[in-house]
Amino acid sequence: MSASIKLAKGRDKSVRRRHPWIFSRGIEMVTGDPQLGDTVDVFAHNGQWLAKAAYSPNSQIRARIWSFIKKEIDTAFFIERIQQAQMLREECIARGALTGYRLIAAESDSMPGVTIDKYQDYLVCQLLSAGAEKQKQHIVEALKHCFPECSIYERSDVAVRKKEGLEETTGLLHGTEPSEPIVIEENGVKIQVDIKTGHKTGFYLDQRDSRQHSMKYVKGKQVLNCFSYTGGFGLYALKAGAERVINVDVSQPALDIAKQNAELNGFNIKKAVFLNADVFKILREYRDQGTQFDVVIMDPPKMVSSKSNLTSGARGYKDLNMLAIQILKPGGTLLTYSCSGLMESGLFQKIIADAALDAGREVKFVESFTQASDHLFDTAYPEGLYLKGFAAKVV
Ligand code: SAH
Repeated sequence: MSASIKLAKGRDKSVRRRHPWIFSRGIEMVTGDPQLGDTVDVFAHNGQWLAKAAYSPNSQIRARIWSFIKKEIDTAFFIERIQQAQMLREECIARGALTGYRLIAAESDSMPGVTIDKYQDYLVCQLLSAGAEKQKQHIVEALKHCFPECSIYERSDVAVRKKEGLEETTGLLHGTEPSEPIVIEENGVKIQVDIKTGHKTGFYLDQRDSRQHSMKYVKGKQVLNCFSYTGGFGLYALKAGAERVINVDVSQPALDIAKQNAELNGFNIKKAVFLNADVFKILREYRDQGTQFDVVIMDPPKMVSSKSNLTSGARGYKDLNMLAIQILKPGGTLLTYSCSGLMESGLFQKIIADAALDAGREVKFVESFTQASDHLFDTAYPEGLYLKGFAAKVV
């Protein structure tokens, strides 16, 4: 008999509501000695079969559900999941003529711990959970079946793997190594993606829609693009006719690619600056010097990584946004985002309100944003909605 877990009394509710996580405290008994990533059957306290899940002995999230119906977790299973994910994205891909998109958004695509982004003919995988790691070969075989033309590259160099008892790892899983950065196109903007050494899988695909929405605020304007990475919002600003764009990031490789991206698109490079600086410091410098902008874009990395640092993370967001508001000209626009899933949109809105108070300026929200639709989320897994943003006018 295969290994199984029995839930404690009353702990089956979230599973019945199809949430994919089972916490260690919700488990009454584990039988059959499952090892790291093994597939286990999940039973309610009354003995009813509920799901098949991957066992993570080292994590608080002790099991992640693969399936709520009885079926083998094998190559055919993942083929079905991948085909469904592709189908759900067809409209989004066609609409944006996308050559780079998120194919698998982990739990949101019923593949816990598995993120897969597609950049042209490269599939870049991030396997974050013990179960994902255990199923690696099946996942690779399924990808080969669904996308025979594609090479597959692994970017599992993420610290959270430690919590699952896994080492960080990267490298080619199938096909050929990319010899140079891959060029994708979104909304008519060309972007180089370095899948081997770029952040995450190489690019922040989730901000695609926000980048496009930002274009209506920047024509003829002085734009400060904070946390620019490889250009992102700054490239769209140049395309939309910004007068000047200052891109700020602490990563020199990212800034080098940002400049190459501007050239690749044939944008007027004289209108762009690529500044290696700490955003927190440079904002204070601009404020103290009295340097002002028409538009400030604020897209920081995730600053809330666990419930325990929600307060300090919130303070970080408030500081950044206060400084941004202080350096905006009257009538200027703040485009601000948070990718911290643990900080809900309502709280982010309050933080901007506090930032406005501290800056001593009147601020009006004019638009709100969310992640692009290839970053869909399941009704049973609200955690899948993590990115929010606002456009706000500063009086
Ligand atoms: N807006 C980008 C994505 C930003 S990701 C896009 O549309 O693609 C966050 C970026 O913040 C990373 O490139 C990282 O190098 C940079 N970063 C992190 N801390 C920073 C700091 N204190 N000052 C400047 N840049 C920072």
